[in-house]
Amino acid sequence: MKLFAQKEAEAFVKTGAVEFRYNRDIRLTPGAKDVFSEAGVKVVFDAESAAPAASIPCSNATASDDQKLFNSPEAERIKKEICDIGRRIWMREYCDGNGGNISARLGPDRFIVTPTGVSKGFITPDMLCMVDIKGTQVAGSWKRSSEFTTHAAIYETTPDAASVCHAHPVHAGAFAIKELQPPARLIPELEVFVGQVAVAGYQTPGSPEIAESIRPLAPHHQSIIMGCHGVICWGKSVEDAYFKMEITDAYCRTIILAQSLPGSASIPCEKMDDLLNIKKSMGLPDNRYELKNAELCEVDPWTEMCGSRGCSTPVTPCNPMNPPQSDADLESLVQKLTDEIMANLNK
Ligand SMILES: [Zn+2]
Repeated sequence: MKLFAQKEAEAFVKTGAVEFRYNRDIRLTPGAKDVFSEAGVKVVFDAESAAPAASIPCSNATASDDQKLFNSPEAERIKKEICDIGRRIWMREYCDGNGGNISARLGPDRFIVTPTGVSKGFITPDMLCMVDIKGTQVAGSWKRSSEFTTHAAIYETTPDAASVCHAHPVHAGAFAIKELQPPARLIPELEVFVGQVAVAGYQTPGSPEIAESIRPLAPHHQSIIMGCHGVICWGKSVEDAYFKMEITDAYCRTIILAQSLPGSASIPCEKMDDLLNIKKSMGLPDNRYELKNAELCEVDPWTEMCGSRGCSTPVTPCNPMNPPQSDADLESLVQKLTDEIMANLNK
């Protein structure tokens, strides 16, 4: 009889296997049982099993396959890429605290995903998890991100999506807290490499509702602003999904800066075809290929953004404690101050 103790159970859990089979030659200590229970590892007594403890780590065929896939050179390459992009997301201040998450397709129903509760700037390959499309974790000892279900909505509806990147960049976030769609036809970079940015209404992060709000938009939009939350992008690789995020936030930042300047230039209608043709030749998706020039330019981007008054009109700050005053109020205030100053001078 061999004792299988807590330490050995901890080592077993680290392999990422989801099932532990043992026979009458092995006795589990209570500490080992606790470790398995906490990690969600299924413990199965199999009297017929001839496997000694040392060869147990992946006695279940599926778990064994998963473990192999999870440690394959392709998985290791993706894990490194996700960590690299996590660092870049954090360095560019696209996520605060443990915000944001990244995933990548590894097999027909297998995805590598970042763990929950960790800064994306400091993840290491050993912290990543592997899940199926339902979000069930099949490998990795760290718990997967609760927002993977939103990524799954993209993978399910969009076969071209090889990776999904979600973050909270502040400039696109400003559009998110207004649930405002950035207007099109302002910068070629966005037109060619991202396309129209969509907006989904607010839903609770990690909920089935948020996944449902993204599902119909994903096949037509590679960058989606999530109301009062952040941005989710998909791409043909981890870096490509991240590029969509970078381009979206830079675009939103430029619009915010330009709002205070006079003028209202935009990419002319007749030049939009050139950009869409370049995009088509690169094999990039866009739901506007079928549209005619006039349809692409139905709305002027600045009118769409700011209304007929234009964006350069100074905006009065809104302070509920100190509501805007009428001209008459201001005049009487100025008069009162002038009278007080004159009275003081005459003293
Ligand atoms: Zn988020």
